Amino acid sequence: MTKRNMTPVKTPMPNQDPKVRSRNFEEVALGYTEEMARQEAARCLGCKNHPCVAGCPVNVRIPEFVAKVAEGDYEAAWQIITDTNALPAISGRVCPQESQCEAKCVRGIKGEPVGIGRLERFVADWHRTHSQDHVERPASNGHRVAVVGSGPSSLTCASDLAKLGYEVTIFEAFHTAGGVLVYGIPEFRLPKSIVQGEVDRLAELGVEVMTDMVIGKVLSIDELMDEMGYEAVFIGTGAGLPRFMNIPGEGLAGVCSANEYLTRINLMKAYLDEYDTPVLKSRAVAVVGGGNVAMDACRCAQRLGAEQVYIVYRRSREEMPARNEEIEHAEEEGIEFKLLCNPVEVLGDDHGHVSGLKCIRMELGEPDESGRRRPVEVPGSEFVLDVDTVIMALGTSPNPLIRSTTPGLEANRRGCLVVGEDGVSTTREGVFAGGDAVTGAATVILAMGAGKKAAAAIDQYIRSK
Ligand code: FAD
Ligand code: SF4
Ligand code: SF4
Repeated sequence: MTKRNMTPVKTPMPNQDPKVRSRNFEEVALGYTEEMARQEAARCLGCKNHPCVAGCPVNVRIPEFVAKVAEGDYEAAWQIITDTNALPAISGRVCPQESQCEAKCVRGIKGEPVGIGRLERFVADWHRTHSQDHVERPASNGHRVAVVGSGPSSLTCASDLAKLGYEVTIFEAFHTAGGVLVYGIPEFRLPKSIVQGEVDRLAELGVEVMTDMVIGKVLSIDELMDEMGYEAVFIGTGAGLPRFMNIPGEGLAGVCSANEYLTRINLMKAYLDEYDTPVLKSRAVAVVGGGNVAMDACRCAQRLGAEQVYIVYRRSREEMPARNEEIEHAEEEGIEFKLLCNPVEVLGDDHGHVSGLKCIRMELGEPDESGRRRPVEVPGSEFVLDVDTVIMALGTSPNPLIRSTTPGLEANRRGCLVVGEDGVSTTREGVFAGGDAVTGAATVILAMGAGKKAAAAIDQYIRSK
């Protein structure tokens, strides 16, 4: 039996040195060795009521897989995780564990919780490098399903349906499949090869992936269903429409949305020296926002060579929605946080290019409808940040293209598709939806959970016809 490890802190995970990594795009966190993984797994108490499982949106059987890691049986650990989580190499890297599974871990009461995400990543990476298993292509059941978009909700939905024998086609607007996992989250947090591996597994299952297919323009949902013979459609088109502040100067050259900036870096490969991608090359950058997207944008700006990078956020550090680890990594890499500050105007030079960002200081007042204390301007506290680039990372909403071209498909005030009580049936028969297209910008694991649920609902729908 494995000896329990009662150390109150997590086994540290090695990272690239901040000075070195802030100038390259290689993965920051290097992952556990076998010895580290077993040491960390031995911290788990194997609680009978396993509160950690309830904290995971897809209910990974955490104590069971962690016990297998402690025994050194990593293949068994992989089988347990993948019973409920199809993409552990991804969730182990990007899940906000501190507010999900690890937030409920009893070891967190008197110390740090078990490093569940780190262990999940270890198991997935071990499996990738050691296992020889080949995906068996299931026999076709003769039914066809179209999946629109190729983010985590779609990948999960397509994978589950293909395993049930459905003939699945993914239609993706971009030239590469993977959704935000490839166009948003940078290489240094989630290597593209890992996402590609998952897309390749889908192909082995027989899923056809058609890229450069903007549904709503090239083909409509009606055409997919009425003319091309798809019996059901899953919409997993995400929430990729960026918001702006509507302040003076936002139209100047040198202002862009974080979505566009990250897409140019990730999908159009500006992160690789050998690519001559048109992307803003900056001396000093202000990234406005405090979420994961803002952290990714500011860290990319630094890696592209900016001398000074600021985060401008109107609340305090405690209210920042980004994952703690990403905030800490950004701080270590030298990003300067201008907290309790809000931009009021982007200043321009005679050539119509950004020459500075005028901000005002804020203080926190009473809580607003989100429960967070409302930031209020401090009169007369304006100041100017000397920057030549401003990147807006203020949140996104779903693109209206599909709902505006599909009769009977309803959306709410925020542009999110309306779904029934099962969480995935839209207002149009045979059309299902999940992920950010339904919830608005959320998380990878919630999108995966929705894709799984939708696959089960689609199977039931087609079988009941
Ligand atoms: P998406 O991943 O958005 O994929 C939607 C896909 O649909 C895209 O590929 C898009 O091109 C395609 N599409 C759109 N319209 C059409 C159309 N008309 N026709 C065909 N295809 C279409 N979450 C975390 O849990 N942890 C993190 O660390 C994290 N970091 C993030 C960092 C960034 C920069 C961003 C932008 C998001 C981050 N998120 C993070 C959020 C997470 O990535 C999303 O919640 C998740 O990807 C949503 O998955 P999805 O399947 O709904 O859609
Ligand atoms: Fe935790 Fe995410 Fe893994 Fe669930 S999927 S156990 S929340 S890291
Ligand atoms: Fe292990 Fe923590 Fe879950 Fe208990 S709550 S089983 S210690 S991971």
